[in-house]
Amino acid sequence: MAHPNFPTDNHGWAELLPARKPCPPLTGSHRFPWVVIGAGLTGLACARRLAALHPNDEIALLDARQVAQAASGRNSGFAMAVSHFTGPFDPAQSTEYKRVNSINQAGLDVLRNCISDGHIDCQWREEGIYHAAVDTMAVREHDNFVGYLNAMEVAHTNLNQDEVSARLGTTFYKCGVHVKMGALVQPAALVQGLADTLPSNVHLYEQCPVLEVTGNEPVSLRLNDGEVRADKVILATNYECGKLGFQRRQILGSTLAGSFTRVLTEDERRSLGNLSDWGVLSLHGGGATIRLTTDGRISLRNTAEYHGSVLLSDAELAKRQIIHREVFEKRFPQLSDVPFEFSWSGVEGVSRNSTNFFGRQQNNIYMAGGYNGSGVSRGTAFGTAMAEYASGGQSSLITDCLASAPATWIPPRPFLDVGAFFTVRSRFKGVGLDR
Ligand SMILES: Cc1cc2nc3c(=O)[nH]c(=O)nc-3n(C[C@H](O)[C@H](O)[C@H](O)COP(=O)(O)OP(=O)(O)OC[C@H]3O[C@@H](n4cnc5c(N)ncnc54)[C@H](O)[C@@H]3O)c2cc1C
Repeated sequence: MAHPNFPTDNHGWAELLPARKPCPPLTGSHRFPWVVIGAGLTGLACARRLAALHPNDEIALLDARQVAQAASGRNSGFAMAVSHFTGPFDPAQSTEYKRVNSINQAGLDVLRNCISDGHIDCQWREEGIYHAAVDTMAVREHDNFVGYLNAMEVAHTNLNQDEVSARLGTTFYKCGVHVKMGALVQPAALVQGLADTLPSNVHLYEQCPVLEVTGNEPVSLRLNDGEVRADKVILATNYECGKLGFQRRQILGSTLAGSFTRVLTEDERRSLGNLSDWGVLSLHGGGATIRLTTDGRISLRNTAEYHGSVLLSDAELAKRQIIHREVFEKRFPQLSDVPFEFSWSGVEGVSRNSTNFFGRQQNNIYMAGGYNGSGVSRGTAFGTAMAEYASGGQSSLITDCLASAPATWIPPRPFLDVGAFFTVRSRFKGVGLDR
């Protein structure tokens, strides 16, 4: 049963998977050396790394919802190795580009190893990522992006319209580029698989919201039906850290939405070319992300908005589906008879200056999160690094995560909604333009 402060719904990638029995919530009074709050990619990676660093410690991992119900199980499944920085290549930013890409790649390495060691069946395909342009603004951005890839010596293949069409089965894009690093994944299967293969000294409690955090030595956590005292606490709660009194004015939730077709027939798949699966990102920040999944569906996401940091209702989702349909049919007119089977929304943490959060909040309380729509590999890296940092470790990954710029301030109510609206709009500048 979902807690009213932590709502969820039944629209998402988890609905495509066999039903999974959640772990029961924690009740009564307990003491743990380590508590991780939030079992998304950040929290799962953090708990796993803590378990390896402290094999004799019991680690509690508490999530308000069932695993895979939040952004980590509802994203578009692009595990990035190389980030796209909008605008012309700036040599003065090379160190920053390298820092972010090193973090991405560290997360990708962790995910690959977990999937392989745990035999996690999550449609993981490490065949790189396409980026494509539709309109003039995006075509300009394509040239910027290729300039950056060349300067940073990132392996890629530049593609003209015919080459994109031959690979993806659509003439809609004017040009594109295939970056050889990066993976695609079924996000809910990944997160459930990670949760179900945790080390034995990690204890996962689902549908177990932390309602209040007080004190430092130890930190006290109030639960629905119990309490926990912890020596150290890691907040891996994404934009919901504000509900516990942390970073209220620095991070907010942007609501994104997408749709899936049914599984395509053999003929329909053949109309898309020879590749068994692919994923294409728009060269507009926040523009349409489209995939042919390995199980033969087209999945797309093309709306991003400020919606009070909550999921869309069924009626709102039905309206967004009209936009998704337009995006789909323009790209794949040959599939215009193929219906959508699902539409879904998800909420992701964004900050005004697109930074990420990594560090100590108070004595014995740490936080990692807020990836502005790109947290599959980065969240995994941040979670891993946070376990090491909170354990007193030092590494280049920790240094890279700590170098995230401080977050800029988001104004309080009554200006919050306006500020939030503009924050999300500027973060996803151009969203919808590539319809
Ligand atoms: C529609 C959509 C598409 C996206 N596509 C991509 C993509 O293709 N590639 C990419 O890299 N990124 C993408 N993202 C972003 C990515 O999903 C996120 O950055 C990433 O999943 C964040 O992981 P996380 O673990 O930090 O947060 P979350 O996945 O949000 O997990 C936080 C967890 O904390 C729990 N929690 C919060 N408060 C409490 C509390 N008080 N007590 C207990 N538990 C609590 C929540 O229930 C939740 O499970 C997308 C996001 C969305 C919404």
